[in-house]
Amino acid sequence: PDLLDQLLRATSEAGTRSLSILQNTGTLLQNTITLVGISAILITYSIWLPVVLLVGTVPALAVVVRHNRLYHAWWEETTEKRRWERYFDLALTSAYSAPEIRTLRLSPLLRERHDTLRRELRERRLGLLRRQTIAQFFAGFVGLIVTAATMVWMGARAMRGAATIGDLALFYQAFSQGQGLMRSLLSGAGQLYADALFMEHLFSLLALRPDITSPDKPQMLTGVSGGDSRARRVESRNVVFEGVTFTYPSADQSALSDFDLEIPAGKTVAVVGPNGVGKSTLIKLLCRLYDPQQGRVLIDGQDIRSLGVDALRDELSVMFQFPVQWFATARENIIYGDLDAAHDDERIRAAADAAGATTVVERLAKGYDTLLSKQFKGGTELSGGQWQRIALARAFYRDAPIVVLDEPTSFMDSWEEARWLERFRALVRERTALIVTHRFSTAMHADLIYVMDEGKVVESGSHEALVALDGFYASSWKQQQAPQPPPPTDSDKRPRE
Ligand code: ADP
Ligand code: MG
Repeated sequence: PDLLDQLLRATSEAGTRSLSILQNTGTLLQNTITLVGISAILITYSIWLPVVLLVGTVPALAVVVRHNRLYHAWWEETTEKRRWERYFDLALTSAYSAPEIRTLRLSPLLRERHDTLRRELRERRLGLLRRQTIAQFFAGFVGLIVTAATMVWMGARAMRGAATIGDLALFYQAFSQGQGLMRSLLSGAGQLYADALFMEHLFSLLALRPDITSPDKPQMLTGVSGGDSRARRVESRNVVFEGVTFTYPSADQSALSDFDLEIPAGKTVAVVGPNGVGKSTLIKLLCRLYDPQQGRVLIDGQDIRSLGVDALRDELSVMFQFPVQWFATARENIIYGDLDAAHDDERIRAAADAAGATTVVERLAKGYDTLLSKQFKGGTELSGGQWQRIALARAFYRDAPIVVLDEPTSFMDSWEEARWLERFRALVRERTALIVTHRFSTAMHADLIYVMDEGKVVESGSHEALVALDGFYASSWKQQQAPQPPPPTDSDKRPRE
């Protein structure tokens, strides 16, 4: 939440404030020059007159500075509220939430929450503006009194014959103009100060550095030639998790604790376990989306933190549990898997075939050139299961020695699953594969199965060995072999993440 607050603060005012700084600087310069000229005229009447000008407009400066500080403090304090407001706005208008909003009639509730926030924000903002207006009125009043006083003084001089009627007219002109200029000069300066307050948020955001970085002198894995990790001769890699303990930032329980796992080179390994035991987390650690607090992740014996971040990710082809549904053509959705490679249609088709996505694409109006989004003209929308196949094709398109799939079969029925697994075995050939799943019917085909519970591996071995062990795996296996509930249909939609 703190980071998102920081992001909103940096982006919401930076555009107008930076422009305002430019404008104010220009006006400030212009006003200063004119003011010097007017002061030259006034000084001929009395050396003190420019000082009187300044004193008469200082309250206006105080109002600008004070009000902007109050506004800035309010703005900073209400950042999270404004994010909530944005959230409700988006929730009410996005296609993603539309079905539930309609069927559950959530609209009144969400609108009420949105409006309550708006009302609260608006009332406090109006309160600030009211106070500012009153203060400005008094500041203007002080200016008026100062003008009146100097005019009385000048009138008295005219009575004594020390000044002519012409002098009086010139003086009045010069003084009131000078006052206007001085006021805009000082409030311009106050505005500059305020703009700087807001711009600081942009600079503090720009000063953030990523937590995950490449080492100064990255190590290279065997078979990777030169600096180009894609020109590689190795087909598979060995992956080891060694005593890994990891807690998500600001979480109070660790997702993985003293976790050990080995994926031998060229083998297909399955990780099974109930929801929330840390299966997806171990994939995030392998990709270095996070670094563990303790322990190491090794590829071919090298700590992944000693490799370049990009070089590490070039070794991996990952399909996450909730893959992105890119608003792009079917072809692009697949080649995003490997943008650096030369794209030939044959490779794209092979990847789609392996993922069972060919039938999906064939049914599209423009085949591979169909835009996969209904939110832009000429696009079309896919079902959740169809999207999953496209995502799988993207993962297969990437030619990496380690293939990682998070719940790849969750959208398939058991018959389809068996067929797909057969093809998958042929496809990965010598590559190292990690399949994360909660389905034992998927896991049973792996060379090696790890059973996870609460951030730890509790059992491991081949399917036969685990069934013979008669432990957690065996009992869960028997349960899942019992008559199954109807499989999820093709149209079940996965959330966009
Ligand atoms: P699964 O085995 O179902 O894939 P995960 O690895 O996604 O489970 O999650 C493991 C635990 O970590 C869960 O208790 C979950 O609540 C927590 N968790 C997952 N992602 C995050 C996150 N981004 N921040 C904090 N906690 C998380
Ligand atoms: Mg998961």
